[in-house]
Amino acid sequence: MAMSSTEHDELREQAELYVLGALTPADRDAFETHVASCADCAAHVKSLAPVIQALAHTAPQHEPSPALRTRVLGSIPGSPVQTAPISPSVGRPPRGFVPWLAAAASLVLAAALGVYALSLRSRIGALELRLQEATDRAAAGERQLAEVRRVAGDAQSQLAVLVAPDVLRIDLAGQPTAPQASARAFWSRSRGLVFTASNLPAVPPGKTYQIWVLTKQAAPISAGLFKPDPQGRVAAVFETPLDLPQPVGMAVTIELNGGVPAPTGDKYLVGL
Ligand SMILES: [Zn+2]
Repeated sequence: MAMSSTEHDELREQAELYVLGALTPADRDAFETHVASCADCAAHVKSLAPVIQALAHTAPQHEPSPALRTRVLGSIPGSPVQTAPISPSVGRPPRGFVPWLAAAASLVLAAALGVYALSLRSRIGALELRLQEATDRAAAGERQLAEVRRVAGDAQSQLAVLVAPDVLRIDLAGQPTAPQASARAFWSRSRGLVFTASNLPAVPPGKTYQIWVLTKQAAPISAGLFKPDPQGRVAAVFETPLDLPQPVGMAVTIELNGGVPAPTGDKYLVGL
């Protein structure tokens, strides 16, 4: 019977199942018929003999029937077990048992470890994914909490300034650079400065609005930096030094990011 090499390889791969007695009777018969005329497969089965020999000792509850074992081992030309068949495993194992046991055990162990490692890897992958999700959620929660605290703290500070007994109000008007803009400042020596504005132009990249307190001194005093939201609005609270000279007015200019010690840019808002 002609046989392609693929067909032969498939048949040859049944050798392990064959020596373990795991083939169906029909497959077993077909395999045995083939082994009888194929030196390659016969050699392969012979190379597996130590495994079944070890299994015969290590797993007596699954021991192949004596008939099967005799057939398997007897089918191997020149097999030593033909002249010294395995005796039922009672008493001490025969000489040479341990290396075969080790070989069989390491085969079984390697297969079991392979499956175990695979399932462990997929479980770890799933756990890592869930940990990442939980970490992301926690980080998002912390960011939201920090934002809520910041907004609440801001509102509290603004309210404290607005209700301060020493509060001073200064209205600022848009200048030719921003005719639509307007602002209102509330200043309390003890509680700081609340600054609200609307209709401010967006600041160019690398620039910031800077608030100046005008006093009887010649030099304006910086009170803080801000950038309006996309609608041109701002509501911010700034601490001011307790010894700030009495303000007589305020101004807002556009300056380089980080601010400058003295105003250099165009005035956008002025109030006296
Ligand atoms: Zn073959």
